This record gives sequence, C-alpha cells and structure tokens, in this order.
Amino acid sequence: MTDHLADGRALISELVGDRAGDWDVAGELPVETLRTLGARGLLCAQVPADHGGLGLSSAANGELTAHAGSLCSSLRSVMTSQGIVAWTVQRFGDRTQRRELLAELTGGKLTAVGFSEPGAGSDLAAMTTRIKADGDGYVIDGEKKWVTGTRYADFVLIIGRYGDGDGAAAAIVPVDAPGVHIRPVPHPMGCRAAGHADIRLDQVRLPASHVLGGGGQPLSMLFTTALTYGRVSIGWGCVGILRACLDAAGRHAQQRHQGEVALAEHQLVRGHLADLMVAEQIALRACEHASRQWDAAAPDLGTMAVLAKHVSAQQAARSAATAVQLLGSTGSADGHVVARAFRDAKLMELIEGSNEICRLILADHVLSTTKTG
Ligand SMILES: Cc1cc2nc3c(=O)[nH]c(=O)nc-3n(C[C@H](O)[C@H](O)[C@H](O)COP(=O)(O)OP(=O)(O)OC[C@H]3O[C@@H](n4cnc5c(N)ncnc54)[C@H](O)[C@@H]3O)c2cc1C
Repeated sequence: MTDHLADGRALISELVGDRAGDWDVAGELPVETLRTLGARGLLCAQVPADHGGLGLSSAANGELTAHAGSLCSSLRSVMTSQGIVAWTVQRFGDRTQRRELLAELTGGKLTAVGFSEPGAGSDLAAMTTRIKADGDGYVIDGEKKWVTGTRYADFVLIIGRYGDGDGAAAAIVPVDAPGVHIRPVPHPMGCRAAGHADIRLDQVRLPASHVLGGGGQPLSMLFTTALTYGRVSIGWGCVGILRACLDAAGRHAQQRHQGEVALAEHQLVRGHLADLMVAEQIALRACEHASRQWDAAAPDLGTMAVLAKHVSAQQAARSAATAVQLLGSTGSADGHVVARAFRDAKLMELIEGSNEICRLILADHVLSTTKTG
C-alpha cells in the first residue's frame, strides 16, 4: 500500500531543501513548488480518496503539516489555507461543488480564505462583506485583509454576510474576476513568503454555482468549521517550528565552543535544551489529542482544536526565543532557521484566535462543563 505520509514528507524535503531562508528573505515561494505539491494532493491531504485526495487521517496530515512547518512556515501557511478551503467545501458544498472543487484543490489549483476585515478581526461577527443574490447569480461587496496565499491563489474563498440578513455564505471568487482588487501586505513580520494580501471586492458578480450550498448558513457555524481545521493545522505547524528549533539548538550546543568547552557543557545551556524538548512534547501531545478527536468526530473537537493551537503557538513563540538565545549571533541573521521561527511563531499567537480569544473560548468551556450544584 502507498505510504502517502512518507512519500509526502520526502517530496516536501526534496522541494524545500535548504531554500526556505532564501524564500523568506525574498518574500516569495516558487509557485511551481506549490503547484507540484498541490497536484500531488499534499496541500490538503485529508481530502478523501473518493474526491481525488490522499485521504490522510487528521493525525497523519498533522505530521505532514509539522514536517512542512519544520522546514518553512510560509509553505505550511499556504497548506493550512488550502486545507481550510477544502474542508469548508467538503462540509458546505453541494454534490457538484464537492466533486468539481475538491478535484481542483487536489489537482494543482491554489486557493486562500478570507474572513478578516478592517473592522472584523477577533470579532468576526462584525463582518460586513455582503454576498447578495442578483438575477441568476450573486454580487459581492466588501473588504478582506491579510489573506494568506492570495499571491499564489487561482481563487479565494470569501466568507461574508448573506443577502440582507444575519446569515452567512462562502463564495468561490476567482482572483481575476472583474471588481477584485488585490494589494499585497508589504513586508510582513513573519511567514514572509506566504503571499498575504488585502482584497477589495467591488460589485464582484459570480454565477450561482460559486456560492457553497446556496448560502444562508449561520455565520458562526461557517467560521467555526473552517477555523477548527485551521487551528489543528496551525498547532501542528508549531510542532514543526519547535522541532526545527530543537534540532538547530541541539546541533549548535555541541558544535560551538566557549570557555574551552562545547556550549552543551554549560548547565544553563543544557537547561535550554531540556526546555525545548519539553515544549515540543507538550505541543505534540495537544495536537495528537485534537487530531484523535477529529478522527473520532468527537463532540469536544472544537475546544480541543483551540487548546492545541493555543498551547502549540505559545510553546513555539517562547521556544523560538530560547533558540535564538542559545544560538547567539549565529541565529540572528535574517533567514536563519531560528530567526524565522522567532518571527513566524509570534504571529501564530495572533491568528485563528489570538491567545486572548483562545483563553476566552477555553474559559467558556470550563464554565459550561462545571457543575455548580
Ligand atoms: C500572519 C497572518 C496571517 C493571516 N492570515 C489570514 C487569512 O488567511 N485569512 C484571514 O481572513 N485573515 C488572516 N489574518 C488575519 C487574522 O485572522 C487577524 O489578524 C486575527 O484574527 C486578529 O485580528 P486583528 O489583527 O484585527 O486583531 P484585533 O482583533 O484587533 O486584536 C488586537 C488585540 O486585541 C485583543 N482582543 C481583541 N478582542 C478581544 C477580546 N474580546 N478580549 C480580549 N482581547 C481581545 C487580541 O487578542 C489582540 O491581542 C492573518 C493575520 C496574520 C498576522
């Protein structure tokens, strides 16, 4: 039987090699690399085989995501976005949309997902983008910001309000449709090659077939479904960042000599190595648990996805700082693996639910499951 996880890891290793630092400095991923991985189904590897995907479990896709994240967080970010779109199509698309779009997403087409708006970041309920029926199609007006992967995307999944009411819809918007205006985010602090952009949608007309399931879903159901995939994926990406830091720190501590001994002979440096190992294990266990809940379709999946993302992002951000500390000037150069990790990991504490928002969601869970009588 084909081992998709092992093959996928090998292809990602081959295509990324030691080039991620250069991509980070240039602020761009080679689009042919993304198309190659996309056409092999590796950017959304959980898509079931009967839709042309690799059908990996969440746990196996997590390990694939961690591998990409250990090499290049920008690539991993594009993977997360592609996976979010595929999962949203799987959940909300009708039969034809599932068949056609999932074939495209596992066949080399690239995508991105737009939720955030200038006035709706943590508070997605404040979203004002409107997707309205017009004749035999739809018209979209609104603005999205910081949409990962837009630079490489053939189409973007836009989440907005549906009609004049409180419901919502998810629409497939080709990036070259009239009325779509894309402005790349200049010089992002981290994940610099992930192709972030702001998107303005000005009277964008779409055929009816571009709105998933005909629209009208509750907004919170749409974004929670999409974000749950994103949170598990980012959590695993942070496991990858932690592994990259652990590897770089372990090697450097043995190779670099100060005070006539290897750094690893200094107890305070050994303490950093132990802390890095503990952090990687904490994040890994939280992500493994979330993926087990995903694979079992467990009712607490949403909460466990938040927990996995929150724990992993915090561990990665702290540990990347530790790794920079341990490598000293060696790790302080632009594009160096730990310098990238430091910038990339910090951003993971902001997205798909910031640290604060994750804590609020987890506190809600505690309160709703605590017996008072
Ligand atoms: C690298 C990167 C990639 C991104 N990719 C995408 C993408 O692909 N698609 C997309 O749609 N968006 C994307 N975004 C946008 C991202 O989703 C938002 O940045 C995120 O939701 C936070 O929103 P905000 O930046 O507006 O911050 P705000 O919501 O303004 O928050 C600012 C601060 O206030 C805190 N805060 C806000 N509300 C509360 C509250 N109720 N209680 C306590 N504290 C609160 C936050 O925790 C944060 O610390 C990306 C952003 C980044 C940085």
